[in-house]
Amino acid sequence: MKEYEAVVIGAGPGGYEAALELAHSGLKVLLVDRNKERVGGTCLNEGCITSKSYLQSAQYLSKASFFSDCGVMLDVKGLDIKRLREKTISLKDEIRSGVLWLLEQAGVETLYGLASFVDANTIDVSNEKISFKRCVIATGSQVRELPQLPLDGKKIISSKEVFELEALPASIIIVGGGPIGCEFATFFNAVGVDVTQLVRGEQLL
Ligand SMILES: Cc1cc2nc3c(=O)[nH]c(=O)nc-3n(C[C@H](O)[C@H](O)[C@H](O)COP(=O)(O)OP(=O)(O)OC[C@H]3O[C@@H](n4cnc5c(N)ncnc54)[C@H](O)[C@@H]3O)c2cc1C
Repeated sequence: MKEYEAVVIGAGPGGYEAALELAHSGLKVLLVDRNKERVGGTCLNEGCITSKSYLQSAQYLSKASFFSDCGVMLDVKGLDIKRLREKTISLKDEIRSGVLWLLEQAGVETLYGLASFVDANTIDVSNEKISFKRCVIATGSQVRELPQLPLDGKKIISSKEVFELEALPASIIIVGGGPIGCEFATFFNAVGVDVTQLVRGEQLL
């Protein structure tokens, strides 16, 4: 059975930063996530980085009318969400490679598969048992489904599926007035989608 001084479960920003710190302190570290594409976690794959890529394109589009007001005539036809999606995927691949490089340089070992605990000093990853002295659980959070609005992945989607859209809807209802809801409202509004945002209470954000 392989032995590590520290095992980190979850390769999101919480997990990979912890793994880097532990390795820099001289420990033998293993970082585990479901698969290689998950390195970077929610933040890279369907969170901070992804949403900022979408927002940047929306911002360029909003600026188009400003350019023509200034006499700079551009032939802007609107947003091609398929192309934006492809560009975002290659951006994510690039950043993920950077993170993997950092982990490799620091001597962090990686393993892909779903981790579960066997006992207080052993985990199981795809039927492989690994023993550890210390473990960091950095498994992040999950999308919360509303009982009256079950997700179907088509009409009722979570923040994750927004980044899989291949066509813009004519209109959208966004449930939630926190930063993520506001980012999506800003994006869809800027690209010409009719947006209704439902907010609990009186204050946005
Ligand atoms: C649309 C959106 C925009 C956001 N924008 C921002 C922003 O601008 N700024 C900001 O600070 N935050 C932002 N966030 C929040 C940010 O993404 C999260 O706070 C951050 O990703 C949490 O990091 P984490 O490492 O704790 O967990 P995660 O990034 O969720 O990573 C957890 C990892 O653990 C893995 N995992 C889970 N269970 C297991 C298991 N049993 N075995 C193996 N692996 C497992 C998962 O596959 C995942 O890769 C945004 C989130 C969303 C959804």
